[in-house]
Amino acid sequence: MRTPEPGRPPGRFAVTDPATGEPFDEAPDQQPDELDAVIGRAERAWHGWRADPAARTTALRAAADTVEAAGDDLARLLTREQGKPLAESHAEVARTAARLRYFAGLTPQTRRISDGRPVHSEIRWRSLGPVAAIVPWNFPLQLAAAKFAPALAAGNTVVLKPSPYTPLTTRLLGSLLTAVLPEDVLTVVTGREPLGARLAGHPGIRHVTFTGSVPTGRAVAGAAAGTLARVTLELGGNDAAVLLEDVAVDRIADRLFWAAFRNCGQVCMAVKRVYVPERLHAEVVDALAERAKSVAVGPGLDPATRLGPVNNAPQLARVEELTRRALADGARAAAGGHRLDTPGYFFAPTVLTDVPPDSPVVTGEQFGPVLPVLPYRTLDEAVTAANSTGFGLGGSVWGTDPDRAEAVADRLDCGTAWINHHAELSLHQPFTGTGNSGVGVAGGPWGLYGNLRPFVVHRPEAAQP
Ligand code: NAD
Repeated sequence: MRTPEPGRPPGRFAVTDPATGEPFDEAPDQQPDELDAVIGRAERAWHGWRADPAARTTALRAAADTVEAAGDDLARLLTREQGKPLAESHAEVARTAARLRYFAGLTPQTRRISDGRPVHSEIRWRSLGPVAAIVPWNFPLQLAAAKFAPALAAGNTVVLKPSPYTPLTTRLLGSLLTAVLPEDVLTVVTGREPLGARLAGHPGIRHVTFTGSVPTGRAVAGAAAGTLARVTLELGGNDAAVLLEDVAVDRIADRLFWAAFRNCGQVCMAVKRVYVPERLHAEVVDALAERAKSVAVGPGLDPATRLGPVNNAPQLARVEELTRRALADGARAAAGGHRLDTPGYFFAPTVLTDVPPDSPVVTGEQFGPVLPVLPYRTLDEAVTAANSTGFGLGGSVWGTDPDRAEAVADRLDCGTAWINHHAELSLHQPFTGTGNSGVGVAGGPWGLYGNLRPFVVHRPEAAQP
């Protein structure tokens, strides 16, 4: 048993509203040794769930309807514990339902292979068993659904662990879905570490699908190495946006700003660095700074708010330290550069210029409302810099000639490259990254097959003596 939090009953931990910095509720602090029973039940539930694909489709469609019907309750709670504006929480709930509906309609394709001999092979697909889904705090519902919807559609059962910063909406979702899913097919567990570590290394788990930071991803891979469970890791990003000489700054400034600052910059594939031709640098800095200074920052439940708080105190401290260090190294804040002098975890939307290219705010992942804008002399220099951080989640190229922009996008070393956009995703496409950004492929049919194993039957064409 872990040490209880001061003033709190054993077995519970506090959940803080980032808009006030004050605890407003609590969640069960489940212990690692509780996982044996949870995973045992998930294993038993798997035998029935995997056997009936038609029942799975019906149940997952009903799950999507249930999520939509509870949209108001889920969205309000999400804003309360995560901080994002209510409209964004509603959008996240909608994307959660959309994932359930999309994967409910996907079935793996059986394939027959004949090679001229009097035999043929048939490739069928089998589920894996209990899957562990471990999720961060920036998009608790949407990222959870991106894991449990394909895993369940494939016939697996799922044990889902949200971040201790955002356990409540996931718990609500889990309890709502008990009405439409068979018992123990989806189980939500909440608690502080080492709950996630134990889940990732539990011998009853056959696939660990994790989204989070690079160091934790390494720990998860290490834990799963002990059981040889399959691992899918969706890790950090440090996406670059490269603006070209022919870009129309006034036309793209809004889109670029929101690609960096949406969800307070706490998006794995946010624009985290902007590279601009020297000639346009001042114009781009001004356009972004003007928006950063005028955007409405406040509690997510206030309808006027466009940018909420940073989710938690350690993340706020990290953003503050990266900014302080850049400013100490010679950067200038064209907007922001400091915490807001209000309760809660608010940081002023910040645009940095004159940032040394080796500053940690450029080379690392800030994951907050801080954006460095860097000038470049030649396109080769910009592409080299864009590809230089060890991350490779996404990247984007911005200009008026789409063919020219596409030629540059083709040189980005990442999983997804956009032209004149960033972080627009389709349910139908693969989602992956290179280098430190992850291992494995999620999204679309790739996400479904990532939760299945091929099973090959090799047989003669005709009856044999
Ligand atoms: P984190 O790595 O600290 O935590 C992620 C999850 O892992 C949480 O549920 C946490 O409780 C759990 N965890 C912590 N230690 C663990 C351990 N030893 N074993 C197993 N689980 C453990 O990440 P975070 O701070 O919650 O989220 C921010 C990070 O997530 C950023 O780096 C961001 O880029 C990344 N992220 C990536 C994607 C993507 O799809 N690539 C999407 C969103 C966020």
